[in-house]
Amino acid sequence: MTAIVLCGLLALQIMLISGCTAKRTAVETMLQELNSSLQSVQQQSVDAEAASIQASQAEAASIQASQAEAASIQASQAEAASIQASQAEAASIQASQAEAASIQASQAEAASIQASQAEAASIQASQQQSAQVSQGVTSQPPEGHEGPWVGGRTVYLTFDDGPSYLTPQVLDILDRYQIKATFFVTYTEKPEIVPYYNEIVKRGHTIAIHTASHEYEQIYSSMDAFIADFEKIYNYVRDLTGVSCQLYRFPGGSTTNLNLGIREQIKAWLEQRGIIYHDWNVVNGDGATVTADEAYHNVVDNIVQRTHPVVLMHDGVKKETTVEALPRIIETLQSWGFTFAPLDPSVEPIRQGINW
Ligand SMILES: [Zn+2]
Repeated sequence: MTAIVLCGLLALQIMLISGCTAKRTAVETMLQELNSSLQSVQQQSVDAEAASIQASQAEAASIQASQAEAASIQASQAEAASIQASQAEAASIQASQAEAASIQASQAEAASIQASQAEAASIQASQQQSAQVSQGVTSQPPEGHEGPWVGGRTVYLTFDDGPSYLTPQVLDILDRYQIKATFFVTYTEKPEIVPYYNEIVKRGHTIAIHTASHEYEQIYSSMDAFIADFEKIYNYVRDLTGVSCQLYRFPGGSTTNLNLGIREQIKAWLEQRGIIYHDWNVVNGDGATVTADEAYHNVVDNIVQRTHPVVLMHDGVKKETTVEALPRIIETLQSWGFTFAPLDPSVEPIRQGINW
């Protein structure tokens, strides 16, 4: 447009210079109009440019607005993420609470089961007691005893290390209460003692093998030494009484350091020979020095825990307190409904480390 106007102006000026005076005024007028047009065109161009700048500014403002909006969206997203995190934490707390509730529920259930078991045990105890009453067995636990109580048990009293000068007293006490017991005997040739081997048998008790010498180091030094000791007392008892003993008790017990080296060999040998060995699960404590009262309590306080009590005592020398405590032990156990029996090959043996 501007180029056209400029061309027009140039043409007019040429005409003006070269044209006649008559037309000069008209040309000048046209020139003025063209100048005016040019100005107008220039003005329009300026206006257009200004408008363009304004448009650009508006666009920039719009972009800024968009950026602000984007920032706002980002901020919202961050806030949303934060909320999600809080919700996750809340969910975790809820889960923990649920778990705690579950544990509490389990504990409550366990407590309920325990209560049921206690009730069942109580019912069993009552039933047992009724059964005993119906059988005519008077059986009361000792005073102060807590825990399971089974009355009417068989007690196996056993006497080791005899015979000795105390053996007749023991035999008389057992006779007085009409009780049979078991004697794991040792070897003695003392003339005043020798008759007691027979006395044990004659009065209906079980005679059984303990040891000839009771010397641990000698007996357990080798299998040959062990067998020699065993056969010496075995043959002696058989020759004196006519009884071939079937039961045996290890000096010191079946499972001690004393016989560690040959213990299993001895057990195999005894089995092969048809001999049954017995340990014990109640002691009166007379392996050491005890008063009669201690001997009594050692038995009656501990026997309540045993369903199959085998009591170890000694009728060897210097065991006077054992003899002294014996009647009281028997009377107490009888008052609890216990009965007494001698060991024989049909009785389940108590064995250390197995059913001690
Ligand atoms: Zn012994």
